[in-house]
Amino acid sequence: KAKEKGRNQYLLCSSEMKEEVNRQNQLTNHLYRALEKGELIVNYQPQVCLSTGRVTGVESLLRWQHPELGLISPAVIIPLAEKTSLINPIGEWVLETACRQNKAWQVMGMEPILMAVNISASQLKNPNLISQIEGILKRTGLSPAYLEVEITESTAILELGEIIGKLNSLKELGVSIAIDDFGTEYSSLSRLKMLPLDRLKMDKQFVDGIGFNHKDQSIANAIIQLGKSLGLAVVAEGVEKEKQVAFLRTSQCDLIQGYYYYKPLDALEIEKILRRQG
Ligand code: C2E
Ligand code: MG
Ligand code: MG
Ligand code: MG
Repeated sequence: KAKEKGRNQYLLCSSEMKEEVNRQNQLTNHLYRALEKGELIVNYQPQVCLSTGRVTGVESLLRWQHPELGLISPAVIIPLAEKTSLINPIGEWVLETACRQNKAWQVMGMEPILMAVNISASQLKNPNLISQIEGILKRTGLSPAYLEVEITESTAILELGEIIGKLNSLKELGVSIAIDDFGTEYSSLSRLKMLPLDRLKMDKQFVDGIGFNHKDQSIANAIIQLGKSLGLAVVAEGVEKEKQVAFLRTSQCDLIQGYYYYKPLDALEIEKILRRQG
């Protein structure tokens, strides 16, 4: 009887799995065409300098405007793209779009800001990444001083030595490097020591606890002091509340990225913000 039940469970599981696989395949097929159909979009979330109150950078964030399913999050797109060969063309498209946009704001006469672009593990693994970025900077005319790459879980599939080599090549180009989601999973202290970093982005989870959780608050403060004493600029992610801003200011965090100031916005809205601040 148990065996029968086991088999039914297996069958049920199997058909559900099939359905899920079909759904994923369909989405993947759509994603293939999304790029050429212009359904992928990049939004930009401002980073506010705490000491001046000015927007000094933005992070580019990918979205997919699906004709039937609506707006699809990068949390769905990126893993899907990772499983196929799509991550490279999509990643390259995001990089180029973001760099071209940043250059366009400069050409309009805005004060130059930093453009941060997320790079996934398999992008970092791509042997063409450095020449890809070099080509994009050349084509768009953006100075490398205004491009930053954000790395996260890369060491899960890459050797540390390989990552360091890649990042050093990027630094030689003049591009800066941020460690994203710091304090979670693979972004550890040993990584902080080994990697040629310019910025540390403290994960939202520690910001969330400010004002509520003593431990999170102590960790947030410690991360900021650690980053600063290593000579890194510290960015707090996911800041939503005034209380958090006040704490981060006291802790002398450098930059704030979060809904408290701005959500991810389209290029035109960023342009307005930059114009306003003159
Ligand atoms: P991330 O790089 O850590 O980006 C920050 C995420 O936090 C973004 O989510 C942003 O919208 C969200 N966020 C910012 N401030 C707040 C806040 O105050 N409250 C809340 N609740 N959320 C906030 P998003 O856009 O959904 O992106 C999720 C992740 O997807 C990113 O995390 C990044 O790892 C990845 N991703 C996004 N775009 C790209 C891309 O072009 N390439 C790659 N490889 N990954 C990307
Ligand atoms: Mg990021
Ligand atoms: Mg992050
Ligand atoms: Mg994240």
